Amino acid sequence: MLRRAGPSLRHFLLERKSSAGYSSYSSEAKMSRPVQARRLEGIDKNIWVEFVKLAATYSTVNLGQGFPDFPPPDFLQKAFVRALSGENHMLHQYTRAFGHPPLVKILAQFFGKLLGRDLDPMTNVMVTVGAYQALFCCFQAFVDEGDEVIIIEPFFDCYEPMVKMAGGMPVFVPLRPKAPKDGKLMSSADWHLDPAELASKFSERTKAIVLNSPNNPLGKVFSRGELELIADLCVKHDVLCISDEVYEWLVYDGKEHIRIASLQGMWDRTVTIGSAGKSFSATGWKVGWTVGPNRLLQHLRTVHQNSVYHCATVAQEAVAQGFQRELELYGKPESYFIQLPKELQQKRDWLVQSLGAVGMKPIIPEGTYFLVADISEFKSDVPDVPDSDEPYDSRFAKWMVKNKGLAAIPLSAFYCGAHKNNYNHFIRFCFAKEEATLKAANDILQKWKREKTSP
Ligand code: PMP
Repeated sequence: MLRRAGPSLRHFLLERKSSAGYSSYSSEAKMSRPVQARRLEGIDKNIWVEFVKLAATYSTVNLGQGFPDFPPPDFLQKAFVRALSGENHMLHQYTRAFGHPPLVKILAQFFGKLLGRDLDPMTNVMVTVGAYQALFCCFQAFVDEGDEVIIIEPFFDCYEPMVKMAGGMPVFVPLRPKAPKDGKLMSSADWHLDPAELASKFSERTKAIVLNSPNNPLGKVFSRGELELIADLCVKHDVLCISDEVYEWLVYDGKEHIRIASLQGMWDRTVTIGSAGKSFSATGWKVGWTVGPNRLLQHLRTVHQNSVYHCATVAQEAVAQGFQRELELYGKPESYFIQLPKELQQKRDWLVQSLGAVGMKPIIPEGTYFLVADISEFKSDVPDVPDSDEPYDSRFAKWMVKNKGLAAIPLSAFYCGAHKNNYNHFIRFCFAKEEATLKAANDILQKWKREKTSP
């Protein structure tokens, strides 16, 4: 135990306090100067805090927040246990700051194969605390005061505050829905970028565009044509692309996930972000990564080493082993990256059926954990309040969790303040859930349907 030499600290403080004038500096004195840094202005509210609390308080079935309630695959759990309790006790200590060597090596091999280029594990890959930290590193590393960053709406909500914290200006461009002609259910593929509108957002102030395909919350998987449109604009205006591809394996109906970094002229200006949380259904492990050219990643390393520095070694070791297995089984039916989307597609279809039964109009997602449904037919349950500050979908989601015990997230949460009310009659459900959870949701929806139809 450490001991102070000489009189005790308490004795010292008592002596100081009794000396003339000291009492005015007592511990009671409140600070009067503002403590909040300017960069936090306007970003202190967060929808998740409110909706996670509501779900915990009222929901019997939580299809709100995006995480699976089923376990990660057996091979991954076993790899974690082996890493934790095996003989290599060094796995309990710090590892290489920019990524545990076995993990960066296998990621370089894996993504090198997918991108068709040789990747150097030490310079072309960096491991992060989930994809969240990868995003944070990108904005801090690339965005200067006044730089503009284009964000496609609807967007994973942290992009906007992260750009602002870096001093940048988010510039929003919405995906625009086009109703299918034949009366079919809408698909996430029916939400398009308007090429002229997108082009109008690029200027000499544009530093980067954030792309998220497959997209949270819509489940849209950007087509090659759409990616080429974005790529051409990036090249023309010399703009970076921060490509959030955390749902890369979760694509349905035979759709293909295309990596924008593989398109002409894009490797050199793209950072691709991935997540073991989504790849292996282990969101709590918080292992993410970035892949890109050293000329970009060297700046991410600077942010990383001066903030987080190091990510949990045991989790990295287990993820490395998971990727080793997936590399060996690549494209084979036993591969988790083949099996998981198959299972999730079935869960998606169940939820589509259940929501349709109660009168919601689901937008069929081409990928991700999420499904967005149109709730505009529910005004008899939750009436419109003209001129309300709160978007309709937010009031609806709160009403639904309190009255029906079913939690979902309003789509308006994925839009900037100015556009929230243009897209305020949709809610997002997460279908990456156990069969029993989806069945319980179906029971709620069926009961709701009976209540609606009984006189
Ligand atoms: N990007 C997107 C689009 C996401 O949906 C999420 C998680 N919901 C993240 C990044 C963060 O991923 P991680 O849990 O690996 O930090």
